[in-house]
This record gives sequence, C-alpha cells and structure tokens, in this order.
Amino acid sequence: MKFTPEKYKIEDKPMTPFIDEQEIWDYLNTGESTTSQVRGVIKKAMNKQRLNLEEVAILVNAQQPELVEEIKEAARELKRRVYGNRIVLFAPLYVGNLCMNNCEYCGFKASNTKQKRKTLTKSELIQSVEALEENGQKRLILVYGEHKKYSPEFIAETVRTVYDVKVGNGEIRRVNINAAPLEIEGYRTVKEAGIGTYQVFQETYHRESYANVHLSGKKADYDYRLTSLDRAQEAGLDDVGIGALFGLYDWRFDMMALVRHTNHLEACYNVGPHTISFPRLQDALEYKVDDRYRVSDEDFVKMVAILRLAVPYTGMILTAREPHHIRKQVLEFGVSQIDAGTKIEMGAYAKKEGEKQNLEEEQFFINDDRSLGDVIDELIAQDYLPSFCTACYRRGRTGEHFMEFSVPGFIKRFCTPNAILTLAEYIMDYAKEDTAEKGWKLINRELARFEDEKTKQRVLDRIEAIKGGERDQYF
Ligand code: SAM
Ligand code: SF4
Repeated sequence: MKFTPEKYKIEDKPMTPFIDEQEIWDYLNTGESTTSQVRGVIKKAMNKQRLNLEEVAILVNAQQPELVEEIKEAARELKRRVYGNRIVLFAPLYVGNLCMNNCEYCGFKASNTKQKRKTLTKSELIQSVEALEENGQKRLILVYGEHKKYSPEFIAETVRTVYDVKVGNGEIRRVNINAAPLEIEGYRTVKEAGIGTYQVFQETYHRESYANVHLSGKKADYDYRLTSLDRAQEAGLDDVGIGALFGLYDWRFDMMALVRHTNHLEACYNVGPHTISFPRLQDALEYKVDDRYRVSDEDFVKMVAILRLAVPYTGMILTAREPHHIRKQVLEFGVSQIDAGTKIEMGAYAKKEGEKQNLEEEQFFINDDRSLGDVIDELIAQDYLPSFCTACYRRGRTGEHFMEFSVPGFIKRFCTPNAILTLAEYIMDYAKEDTAEKGWKLINRELARFEDEKTKQRVLDRIEAIKGGERDQYF
C-alpha cells in the first residue's frame, strides 16, 4: 500500500501534544534511499529551505558511505554559508542539584542517596560567577534540578544576582536557563529577570521509552513536558531551546521528533526554537539505563549533519559531554555553540587549582575538561572565530523578529563584526600572550574578507575603542 502522509497530519494547536509515533515510523520505514532521492533533498537544503519529515527520513535512510559523505559535505557547506566560521562559547553553571524526580539516567535523581545535595548560597553563586568572569566568560547557562525550592522567583533571583556580578571588565551579558518546565505565569517571572533562552529537553519523544526512565515525580508526565515550551511562548518568552537525550530510544526517531517539534512551534507561534541540543547519554552515579539505544560515534556525526540540513537557521549546541575528537568533527558539520572551561561539580568554578573535585556532586561525567583559554586557542588554530556575542537579545532581535534577520547579509552586518569585537575584548582582558598574537592575526584575516568598506571601518573604529579601554561594543 502506498504511504500517504496526509492521513497522519495531527493538526498543530497551541498547548496540545503533537507527536504521532506512527507517522514518524512510517516515514522511517520506507527502506534504503536511492542516490537521486538523497541528492534531491540535499539540493533543497542547500537552497536554505527547511526540510519536511519525509525529506529528513530520506537522509536518515541513506546507507551507502559515499552518500553519507555527501550529506556531511553538504552540512559543512551549508553551515559555512549560514553561520560563517563563528563558534559561540558559553559555560554551564549548576545552581542546585536538589531533585524530586527519578530520571534513571541522572545522578541527581531523588533515589540516589550517594549524591551530595547542594544549592549554591547567594555568596557561593557570586564567587562562582566571579571566577567565570575572571576567565573571560560572558554567556552562562544556569542549571537546576527540579525541586519546589527552585521556584520561578528563586530562578529569577539567581539570574539577577548573576547579572549584578562585575569583576574588572568582566560581566555576564546573557543568562540562559535549563530547568524544569514552568507554568505560564512562571515563565513570565523568569522572563522579567532578563533571561536569554529557556531550555527544556524532552529527553525522548517516544512515549513508552519516556515512561520507562521517568518513574516518578512531575517529570513522569510526558505531555506536560512536551507542551512546556508552548507555555513559554504563551508567556511571551519566545526564545526557547529544545533537545533530546540520545541513547534513550532509537536516535532516528528522536531526531525526526526534534524536527517535528520545530515544525509545531513554527506552526503555532511563527517562530522555531532558538537552539537544539542533542546530548548523548553519559555514565552517572547510579545510572540505570539499558544500553540498547546507545548512539555510535558514526551515527552521532551523521545525525548532526542531517539536523544541520533540516533546520538551517536553528543554533545547534554541543556540550562537554562529548570527547574532544567528536567535538572537533561535529563543529565542522553543524554545531554553532559549545561550552568551554566546563565544570559541573557544584561550586567547582570557585575552587582553587588542584583542590579536590567531588564526583558525588556531578550530574554525569564529562569528557572535555579543557580550560576556556585552551578551547579558544584551538578554535583559532583551526580558523574558527570564537564569539561571546550577546547582541541580538540585547537589541531585541529575538523570536519572530529574530527570524526576520536570519537572512543573507545579516551575518556580515552583525554576527561577524560582533564576534570580532568580543574576541578583541577577550584578547585584551584575558588571553595568554601567544593566544593574543594568534587572535589578532585571525581578526586581521577576518577583516580582510570584508567586502563592505564602511562596515569594516566601523569595526576597526570599535577595535581601537576597545584597545583604548572601552568595552561592550556591539552592533
Ligand atoms: N532538571 C531539569 C530537567 O531535567 O529538565 C533541568 C536540568 S537537567 C540537570 C539538564 C539535562 O541534563 C537533562 O534535560 C538531560 O537531558 C541531561 N542529562 C541528565 N542526565 C544525563 C546523563 N547521564 N548524560 C547526559 N545528559 C544527561
Ligand atoms: Fe532531576 Fe533533571 Fe536529573 Fe531528572 S534530569 S533527575 S529532573 S536534575
């Protein structure tokens, strides 16, 4: 029987679940894709057109190694065209690991009695932020367990505290949040504190697998979580991040579901997610997940490349969960943001060099623990342009408005200049001598590529201002 996609179409309605598992599986179960099918989809993606689920499935079902290489090559090229060579840097800051849920994969789960529980006090939070600023960080994501103590008011208060910390020329200019789903009113409260993106990961979009690993607590409610970012949108918080925890169910299904979620937000709110995250499961204390769905390195890289082609304008985040060699590869194929200098033990940023780290205070184990300086050094050596830019959200270019700007010319006018300016600040304030030297050379190479003399002159003027001691220059 011929498969007719129309019969599935769940109508996208705000605050209403939108995943039809049969629909996703029917797309995936169409057999190996032919060369001409794959090339047809790649061609569409290269025109920066969003792919539909059927087209994404065609890429997933490409099996021949040469075709997979073509997909990766296309993702590399599309990424270069849409994002240039910028990589945005941030650091996660764990504010509290109290948790009332029992997610089988997470060291913070309520049943894990080996976990040391801690919520940073205001002064500990300030010390952590001071330490992060002293390293040159400008963008943070605050992370919280799910607990009644971490109310919207508490989250908002911690956000305000972070913004108030200033050390020397250091300041945090964008605070993103990864915390439990909120009610509409709660999202309003955190929005008022001036947050950037609010992230909630569905973990897996497959209902049965979701139920298997979320045994109790509020997070056991699949639909409440699935519609959480609809509530954010209803509250006027239009800058949201989605994600799936790869390894809980078949990666192909969850990747398709991420695209489906993107379609849902676009259909209902005219704005897709600002970022997509795709953490792979890591070992953790008391970790209890069956290994059946672990994603191989090869599949992971293929998945990142397909996602890049499917949603060309959505930021893609990769974290220090991944080892260095994987981070290096997927930077090429699609990732636009990474964390650097990451420590996930509670309060670790404020600890002195050599002071004992407690694994009992980590949510899971990380694989890339290089310092911010080392990561920047390597990015520059590979001709990436490290960026701490926070301009869009501070200029109100978010949500639907932001989408308007995701068009050719925008990067040249705003993103590259702002990346250069934030790198110049980093060099002046924090870089080691040899990194500084390489950094200025990179900036000169970037400036030489500018086609528009006026923009170039404006950037040069601002670099001079930074050299003269001014800070926070952006377009
Ligand atoms: N508690 C909130 C929640 O669950 O949404 C927010 C913070 S939670 C600490 C952030 C994310 O960490 C989760 O959404 C999950 O995807 C990820 N995570 C949990 N355990 C993990 C593990 N063992 N390996 C990799 N990522 C993990
Ligand atoms: Fe709690 Fe989040 Fe960990 Fe689940 S993933 S146990 S909700 S901190």
